[in-house]
Amino acid sequence: MIPVTKPYLPDQSKYQAYVGKIFDSGQLTNNGPLVNALEQRLCSYLGVKHVICVANGSLALQVAYKALEIEGEAITTPFSFAATSSTLVWEGIKPIYSDIDADTFNLDPALIESHVSCKTSAIIPVHVFGNPCNVEEIRNIANKYGLKVIYDAAHAFGVRYKGESILKYGDMSTLSFHATKLFHTIEGGAIITGCDKYAEKVRDIINFGISKSGSIGCIGTNAKMNEFEAAMGLCVLDDMEKIIKSRKSIIKEYIKHLPSSVKFQKVDDDTSDLISYFPILLSSESALLEIVSKLAAENIIPRRYFYPSLDVIYDKMGVCDISNEISRRILCLPLYYGLDKKYVKTIADIIKQVN
Ligand SMILES: *Cc1c(COP(=O)(O)O)cnc(C)c1O
Repeated sequence: MIPVTKPYLPDQSKYQAYVGKIFDSGQLTNNGPLVNALEQRLCSYLGVKHVICVANGSLALQVAYKALEIEGEAITTPFSFAATSSTLVWEGIKPIYSDIDADTFNLDPALIESHVSCKTSAIIPVHVFGNPCNVEEIRNIANKYGLKVIYDAAHAFGVRYKGESILKYGDMSTLSFHATKLFHTIEGGAIITGCDKYAEKVRDIINFGISKSGSIGCIGTNAKMNEFEAAMGLCVLDDMEKIIKSRKSIIKEYIKHLPSSVKFQKVDDDTSDLISYFPILLSSESALLEIVSKLAAENIIPRRYFYPSLDVIYDKMGVCDISNEISRRILCLPLYYGLDKKYVKTIADIIKQVN
């Protein structure tokens, strides 16, 4: 079976050497040496000031909302994975959907302002498929109304914009290190911020609200990453160059074989190559469904990332026409380290027959 993605597995003996160290030290979790090492290496790999590793990307979002005291309403995108919205609802924050741009698939900055109310406390944009949002416009709107900005950057690991990490924008950005993501720690995630105070608050919150001094200064939760997960992260991080190279060459092969009727996400020239997903926009939902069933007959399973549009699930009104339309026609094609290129040709040939 050819799935849309496959977790990357590093050299097993390297992972076992880390497990040996964990058994020697006896420290399995609670801000252990491997979590510390991973955070330091991620700071330099990504080029950011603070990386706080957590148990998963959903908790990264929830902790970020708590740390920045988000409440009432938050303006967000309907075109994302469910967790962007479900975490808001879980925290008692009402997601207010603003429609996307039909070409970039990100929040259309021209529409955001009309959704600001006296209850709005934040904007939660997503760099969808790693594509940087219009960060300058979003910053202007946030400044004008005194709103916090948290980027759900779960797809934007390693993405650079105008020569710097895209994770530097907003008050905080969050990452997911789930097994299926570009970089992973089995389950895991991180909060990225340039602000020392926020970083300290996040560290307290993920550890039951216990501060450095040992007293409980705020309401916290348990969102800690453990040492076995950090060990996986350290191994995968060593192999990023080879993972990136493999994915880039698969994308190049797709572009070579796909018909010109297939549309791609519009990405600013100042952005580094996007390699987390390979989304294509098809001419109609019926063409998409036909392609999905023809691929399934070959045991090739792409995914409808992201369908349905989240406003339909969490708002019932289905208020975002562009997102609803785009989400019906987007398909993410298989993309992972080591995918045999012969399948790329097969997939492209099937798409050519239909679209
Ligand atoms: C994967 C993902 C998440 C959730 O991350 P988990 O680590 O699976 O909890 C959140 N937002 C987006 C956009 C994602 O793709």
